Amino acid sequence: TARSLQNAGTEKSPLQVFVRAKKKINDIYGEIEEYVTETTQFIGGLPQEIEIVDKEEKELFQSYVQKVAAIREVLSRDHMKVAFFGRTSNGKSSVINAMLREKILPSGIGHTTNCFCQVEGVDGQEAYLVKEGSDEKLSVVSIKQLANALCEEKLSESSLVRIYWPRERCSLLRDDVVFVDSPGVDVSRNLDDWIDNHCLNADVFVLVLNSESTMTLAEKSFFHTVSQKLSKPNIFVLNNRWDASASEPEFQDSVKSQHQEKCIDFLVNELKVSSEKEAAERVFFVSAKETLQGRLQEAQGNPAHLGAIAEGFQNRYFEFQDFERKFEECISKSAVKTKFEQHSSRGKSIASDMRLMLDNIFDRANVLRNNKLDQKKSLTDRIQKTENQLMLVTREMKLKIHSMVEEVEQKVAKALNEEI
Ligand code: GDP
Repeated sequence: TARSLQNAGTEKSPLQVFVRAKKKINDIYGEIEEYVTETTQFIGGLPQEIEIVDKEEKELFQSYVQKVAAIREVLSRDHMKVAFFGRTSNGKSSVINAMLREKILPSGIGHTTNCFCQVEGVDGQEAYLVKEGSDEKLSVVSIKQLANALCEEKLSESSLVRIYWPRERCSLLRDDVVFVDSPGVDVSRNLDDWIDNHCLNADVFVLVLNSESTMTLAEKSFFHTVSQKLSKPNIFVLNNRWDASASEPEFQDSVKSQHQEKCIDFLVNELKVSSEKEAAERVFFVSAKETLQGRLQEAQGNPAHLGAIAEGFQNRYFEFQDFERKFEECISKSAVKTKFEQHSSRGKSIASDMRLMLDNIFDRANVLRNNKLDQKKSLTDRIQKTENQLMLVTREMKLKIHSMVEEVEQKVAKALNEEI
């Protein structure tokens, strides 16, 4: 079945690098939290009269508890984020649906995404959406309803609609990948705001092009701005609608190499975000619509090629899978590095700061103990002396008494003798 196929896929998925790292760092932070809380409780419970820890230090310990809790909170929300850009109708929503193996985002004419849509996994069976600035969970039963909800009121183009989709229905969502669909770069003048609001924490960017035309200035300039704001963003380029090339097989190879060359040149020489070799691994020729159709067929137990639009389905299908694998490797590595490296260095610095403080307290406690021992020792010395003196005195007294008694005895004896 589709579910077991998906499961088999996940086991070897490069996304597991992130999933495992997240679990590990969560466990470590769980231990740090226990240690910090226990220490803080112990320090806080020390009686006032023991003057080893001052108020400031107690407050500092308390602040570590809060810091660790805050990091754990961020950690629980950490995910891998991929954002899709390109002109309207190039197929951004279709690519996302193909990757999710289900028609989640509305696509097609009249369903132009005119705000940002984020799809993320959620526990449970129910899909729902939340609009920006609201807490209300709007239930999503059908794609049509979702499309209507998105079009219903004029949403500002840089606002964000979050779509929560049952994690267990898709392995990518289960493995913590979050997808962001954007309005077409051709319709917006607020590209700067977009980048600031939705892109700075993206681990991977996917530029979805229409392989029937050339890259436009709008698409190029958007990525120029992204690469100015972020150092070396990870960018993949999908030449979508490649199924259309099948109708002109005599030009297919030359069109492909022209596009390939231009895309590589864009990444390497214009944006300077990757080497020639890396860039060659970042450019793909796919058909999102066909891939989705193929996958929907597979989910019903049919062969994928029943979803084919044109000649050459298998190659395009493989290329889409190749893109997914390279994308998974890239996003999980990048997310582990950007997200967890920070947390682990913060964790290390909290642990070493606390250790230093505890070492100091321990040293102070030792000094205090030694002082008390010294005090006790000098007291015992004095007692000993007194005892010794006392002994001397008593011995002397005994001797004296003894001799006195002897003297008295002698005197008495003498007196008695005299009387006799
Ligand atoms: P977006 O505006 O970039 O999100 O584009 P959509 O995903 O909504 O796609 C726009 C239209 O193009 C829809 O009617 C899709 O079915 C169609 N489409 C998307 N990808 C392909 C593809 O690879 N091949 C073909 N033939 N049509 C596609």
